[in-house]
This record gives sequence, C-alpha cells and structure tokens, in this order.
Amino acid sequence: DVGSQKERVVTEEEWLQKWEMGNIGFHKEQGHPLLQKYMDVLLNGRSGLRIFFPLCGKAVEMKWLADMGHSVVGVEVSEQAVKEFFSEHSLPYCEEPVPEISGAKMFQSTSGNISLYCCSIYDLSSLIVGKFDGVWDRGALVAVNPCDRQRYASLMINLVEKNSSYLLVTVSYDPNKHKGPPFYVPESEIKSLFG
Ligand code: SAH
Repeated sequence: DVGSQKERVVTEEEWLQKWEMGNIGFHKEQGHPLLQKYMDVLLNGRSGLRIFFPLCGKAVEMKWLADMGHSVVGVEVSEQAVKEFFSEHSLPYCEEPVPEISGAKMFQSTSGNISLYCCSIYDLSSLIVGKFDGVWDRGALVAVNPCDRQRYASLMINLVEKNSSYLLVTVSYDPNKHKGPPFYVPESEIKSLFG
C-alpha cells in the first residue's frame, strides 16, 4: 500500500532549500558501494562510454567514471550542488547557457568529460543531450514525485541507446512510516514503468 505517498509533491524550491540548509543526508561522500559492486555490469567491458546521472546532486561517482575515461552527463536543479561538485574535486569548469532551454546553464569541466546541466530533467531530450550507453539512477527515480514517475521513465527510455545498461537503486520500506523522499517504488511498478 503506497497510498500515503501517491499524492506527495516535493517542489523544486524545496530541493533548492535542502541544498541551502545543508539538509543533504542523501549525499554519500565515499560514493555508493553498489556502483562499485556492479561497475562491470554497467560497463560490460566497454570503454569510452557516455554515462548519464539523472538528478545527480554532487554524486562523487561522476568523478569515478570520468577518471575511468568515460564521459559523464548529469542534470541537477540546484546550481549550488553543481558548483560544489566541481569545487570539492578541484575541477576547473566553465559555464554556458543552453540555447534550447530558457534559464538553463551547462557547467562543463575544462577537460570536457563532465557536463552538468542545471535545469529540470523534464527540460531535457535526446535532441539536447544525445543518447547514453549507461545510466546510474540512485536517488533519482526514488526522488521523483510519484505523479511524475511515468513521465520520468518515458524520458529515460528515450535517452538510452539500444545496447545500454541501466543501474537502478531503490529502497524498500513501509511507506506508511515515512513520507519520502526517497519514495518506495514497488518492484511491480518498476516493471510496468520500464518494461
Ligand atoms: N543522485 C544524487 C542526488 C540524490 S537527491 C545522489 O546519489 O547523491 C535528488 C536530487 O535531485 C537533489 O539534488 C535535487 O536537487 C535534484 N532534483 C530534484 N528534482 C529535480 C528535477 N526535476 N530535475 C533535476 N534535478 C532535480
């Protein structure tokens, strides 16, 4: 029974406030052990991949993959998060407007292998960011408002190449005991969203 979470909405403004207040318990300074564990599944022996980080925050795993020679693209509404990512890794970057999306900015490492779009993920399309060989979805599907899940999944399906790998981390708990995010997304719903 996920009835209690169905109607919940967290606004972009609330996410920005979480960043301002330092209320970011979701951030893992040491990176996620499950990406380490399943790195081979994501890469599948391939090199020079394009990897997408939806709702990226300042996930340190972006640095891991860039250091392994892959090209990383993330999207995050909080400009503070994006700037903290580059400064905490001492990465020089430049910032430029995104002509297709009003108000959006793209922050790119000077080396060119990490590009973070500062806008809502719903503003992106494969025409703007291209398609990806791999996705690391941690704190993303589970952070999306329940009413937006279908739209999110359709967009993600549109953003991946045919032979891509998609690693998804979800959390399992009694949704009556915590209002989320992270939201509880039942396995059956994941199957119907992604097929
Ligand atoms: N994936 C990251 C962050 C998870 S928290 C990690 O593993 O640490 C979810 C993040 O999504 C927050 O940083 C929030 O600011 C961002 N966010 C929320 N809604 C968004 C949207 N519609 N588009 C882009 N980013 C969004």
